[in-house]
Amino acid sequence: MTSILVTGGAGYIGSHTCKILALHGYTPVVLDNLVHGHEWAVNWGPLVVGDLSSREVLDRVFKVHNPSAVIHLAAFAYVGESVIDPSKYYTNNVICALNLLDAMRRHACEKIVFSSTCAVYGTPECLPLSESHPCGPINPYGRSKRFIEQIMADYGKAYGLRHASLRYFNAAGADPEGQLGEDHDPETHLIPLALKASLPGAMPLTVFGTDWDTPDGTCIRDYIHVVDLAEAHLAALHYLDTHPCCTFNLGNGNGHSVKKIIDTVEKVTGRPVNWETGPRRAGDPSRLVADAFLAKQKLGWTPCYQDITDIIGHAWQWMAKHKRTAT
Ligand code: UDP
Repeated sequence: MTSILVTGGAGYIGSHTCKILALHGYTPVVLDNLVHGHEWAVNWGPLVVGDLSSREVLDRVFKVHNPSAVIHLAAFAYVGESVIDPSKYYTNNVICALNLLDAMRRHACEKIVFSSTCAVYGTPECLPLSESHPCGPINPYGRSKRFIEQIMADYGKAYGLRHASLRYFNAAGADPEGQLGEDHDPETHLIPLALKASLPGAMPLTVFGTDWDTPDGTCIRDYIHVVDLAEAHLAALHYLDTHPCCTFNLGNGNGHSVKKIIDTVEKVTGRPVNWETGPRRAGDPSRLVADAFLAKQKLGWTPCYQDITDIIGHAWQWMAKHKRTAT
């Protein structure tokens, strides 16, 4: 069976991607340092516990497993932390990606699908955001991802690297079969926090600003089901067989406000969400909504879970089943 190296495959999006790869006949080989990933999330192929900073680890993985391509998700992804400690983000995200790309060169592996982000755009000049919108990331996390996109373009021209950048909007939901889901520590994402805030006796969710220039005063985001994201990685991998490079936005194209998410969580759980208004969070644009036409046109990708109630329903099903995330 064809092996695909999935860095960060023990994480939230990575583990869902591994499941989809296995369903399509690939062996996902997970390389993860387990700093944020979980051993329990690796079920469809070997797990190599190691760090992308180690040339020795990378050489061993390529030698032993001979992957035909790489899906690179391993990264730190807390925007606030990246502002406080940029060195951590540039070292881990950028230098480790360089190590990976150089290991790919040494081992003649020429295809990579890279987990990028809508944070590469910065503050939107117009909506919805298409791939042609100028990139102007406003925090070290977004900049680290943009650097890697640019490095891959240079490696493509110089060394023939075939590369896909997938710019995710807000990943959400969980495996509909209940095997996988979101388990971050610390959890900073709205949907799991709102679900937790609906549990009896829970601490309140802080809504970061209710005075934004939006219809209900709260920020608007485009939530995309994690399984739809996972499917897009496979489609991008196939796309690289016939195209040298590509960049795609991955979102549903629907914006939902924080209040709409809270209302939907209440509908799904049947309980009130305990929430309070707090100050705006630094670096939050008021609205982020994807124009994902290109991914639909070029990859033949159509999100299966476009209804926010289904996305939150799957997240709730996962949280209710796995008490470790609900407490
Ligand atoms: N948000 C919030 N309270 C929280 C976490 C998030 O009000 O405790 C808001 C945040 O300001 C943003 C939206 O929820 O408008 C989604 O934030 P999240 O951190 O989930 O994803 P991001 O958009 O930062 O990638």
